[in-house]
Amino acid sequence: MTTFDLLREFGHEQLVISQDPGANYVGIVAIHDTTLGPALGGTRLWNYAKIEDALVDALRLARGMTYKSAVAGLPLGGGKSVVIGDPARRDREACFRAHGRFVDTLGGRYITAADVGTSSADMELIHFETKHVAGLPGQSGDPSPVTGYGVYMAMKAAARARWGNDSLAGKRVAMQGAGKVARYLARHLHEEGVKLLVTDIDAGKVQRFAADFGAEAVGLDAIYDVAADIYAPCALGATLNDQTIPRLKVEIICGGANNQLAEPRHAAAVEKRGMFYTPDYVANGGGVINICREIEGWSEERALHKAAGIYDTVQRVVEVAQREKVTTAEAADRLAEERLAAVRALRAVRR
Ligand code: NAD
Repeated sequence: MTTFDLLREFGHEQLVISQDPGANYVGIVAIHDTTLGPALGGTRLWNYAKIEDALVDALRLARGMTYKSAVAGLPLGGGKSVVIGDPARRDREACFRAHGRFVDTLGGRYITAADVGTSSADMELIHFETKHVAGLPGQSGDPSPVTGYGVYMAMKAAARARWGNDSLAGKRVAMQGAGKVARYLARHLHEEGVKLLVTDIDAGKVQRFAADFGAEAVGLDAIYDVAADIYAPCALGATLNDQTIPRLKVEIICGGANNQLAEPRHAAAVEKRGMFYTPDYVANGGGVINICREIEGWSEERALHKAAGIYDTVQRVVEVAQREKVTTAEAADRLAEERLAAVRALRAVRR
């Protein structure tokens, strides 16, 4: 599929490629949809083998942001930018000031933030050139507490859908990854009396989970075979695939990782095996809610309240899935598309 095929199929509004040879900078901004508000999405710094790979990544990620913000009920659209280069590059000021200048030319149609390969320090460099950047030092800060809380609320709603009761006390949750989001999620689960099983490539993090939450350590690959009630992917994407789905012995899948399904068809494969899939971008919407907090000037309390609403969103996903006889993943997409269509249909009123 070419870039133009993707643009047409996904219906992006705009795709911008910019360069500044003096700064050794090549960047792409993809704006998918600004129906609900300015397009928000992070800047990814990555060594793409080909420019086409970078374009496709930016287009797919931008579209994902439209859906994520739409179901989170935020006044934001979807966009993403990609800067081509080594994530460890040292010439960061030139690179990110160049990026900031190009982001500024979009006049606020696109707001950026940190993503893979970039940090709040890089956002500060972008901020030298444009005000259309969030995730600055001393502002909304690490989104993981809000994300972890949102995943916890999603898990409770999933429990209600599966078992008719949202209590997680006494359940066994198999967590893949013991990073930032997993840690905040684990704290809520531990407080509710959940038995945690955990794996991570970093043995030190697993040990801390054992000490802090009484978690049982599991091997990296064995996480797919453990007998548990819930599998919580909180590390990598694409861990629900042809190899892993037949191995899982859980009733619910709910975690913080992005892009959990290797391919869209895996949503049906999960359901065919009798497991409830909590759409990833619904469950982990706390991260974008936290960024919105900085843009809209919300308190942390208000952001947490908004993240608590993820519980209701999962319930709405379940209603749509049952009514329209589609997977929960398709139901989440329909909810997002419904909101976009409703706002698109608003009458244009002249001031
Ligand atoms: P993190 O880097 O703190 O945690 C990820 C953890 O996964 C690390 O501890 C890492 O060692 C571990 N890991 C990597 N490969 C692994 C493997 N093969 N098996 C087991 N563990 C492995 O990152 P995070 O911020 O906690 O994010 C976790 C996931 O949630 C990512 O997919 C991220 O895109 C997504 N997410 C995060 C946020 C947020 O607010 N931080 C928001 C939305 C989505």
